[in-house]
Amino acid sequence: MEHRNSYTIPACIIAACLAAVCGFYAGKHAKSSIPETETAAAEPVQETEVQETSADEPTELQLLNREAVSHMSDEGNTIYVIGHKSPDSDTVCSAIAYARLLNLLGYTAEPRITMPVNNETKYILEQAGCETPEILESAAGETIFLVDHSEYAQAADDMIDAHIVGIMDHHGVGTVNTGHQIVYEARPIGATATIVWLDYMNYGFEIDRQTAYLLLGAVLSDTSNGTISTATDADRKAVSALAELAGVDDTEALYKEIHERAMSYDGMSDMEIMFSDYKEYEASGVKYGIGLINSTKEETSKELAERMKNIAEEAMTSKDVDYMFACAGIREGDIKVDYIIPMSEASRQLMEEAFPNYDEYDGTSFIFRNGGLGRKTKFVPGLNDFFAAHPHE
Ligand code: MN
Ligand code: MN
Repeated sequence: MEHRNSYTIPACIIAACLAAVCGFYAGKHAKSSIPETETAAAEPVQETEVQETSADEPTELQLLNREAVSHMSDEGNTIYVIGHKSPDSDTVCSAIAYARLLNLLGYTAEPRITMPVNNETKYILEQAGCETPEILESAAGETIFLVDHSEYAQAADDMIDAHIVGIMDHHGVGTVNTGHQIVYEARPIGATATIVWLDYMNYGFEIDRQTAYLLLGAVLSDTSNGTISTATDADRKAVSALAELAGVDDTEALYKEIHERAMSYDGMSDMEIMFSDYKEYEASGVKYGIGLINSTKEETSKELAERMKNIAEEAMTSKDVDYMFACAGIREGDIKVDYIIPMSEASRQLMEEAFPNYDEYDGTSFIFRNGGLGRKTKFVPGLNDFFAAHPHE
């Protein structure tokens, strides 16, 4: 463990000898692979003024940012960077891009997934020419960095028995906790991929074309091309910057391609559709699950709602939850409508009590128009508040 602290460089020395510091500092380990750009900076440039840095040289702040994440308790093990179950593009692409960033920082890290990827992610990976990460069957005993979630219920199997060294997320704080120090980065923004993009800049590493494409696809997907309510200027700036790095001229066209894949449930059974973007939560001792389904118009939502109602019993018995909902959501420009399908009678009663402000109940779905009932922004916080106020018997 001693080598971990060997780069505790007092700030004053960095300030005084920036060029020299650049020469030997290469992240976590001196033996780590040094990116080309840094090798060029390795020769101390005595003549150059300390504050003046070329585009290739990390700044003092970037070096300090690197130093601050160079003490993760990985014990020299491979860090598996992994997102949530029912993986989406943000979870998969962020894991790949962040594992690469950890490599640049000197860590041994590899991306992993929990389950096979969906049609949209498959498309992004194919277009990027990137291999699909391997599936991690069990997290027990592994060294793990979580991206895009912090909830055991959503994590790879046996995550409770993993050694978690970091979390990067843009959701509410979940159930994962550790006694030891970890890297914990959360931002209330549109995509985890945007946080990864910010980190590349914060640490002063260039983003290669393939990584840029993966991150771009993830941000476009998670933010619906910057239009979703959680999207921020950081996400929109990430899209334009990453598009340039990835050589994508028309992000709108790329988003349409991605969106088309996300809408495609071709070749999928009703059960697969129900669980293609499904997340479980635990609050106040209550376990519940919500499956999101993409729809383009109310007619399709009604159709999907009927299909989900037909498999409700099978779906409920396949998971260990108290309540379950399918949510057929329409996100078309300014139109946000959600059809919430309770998958059991208890779930239906819960909807009546927790969200009495629905616009319509058609016997199958509670319909929320004028902004919908976004899973991350309204549905989950609303249920958690309700459970806290009404302790479960
Ligand atoms: Mn996600
Ligand atoms: Mn996300």
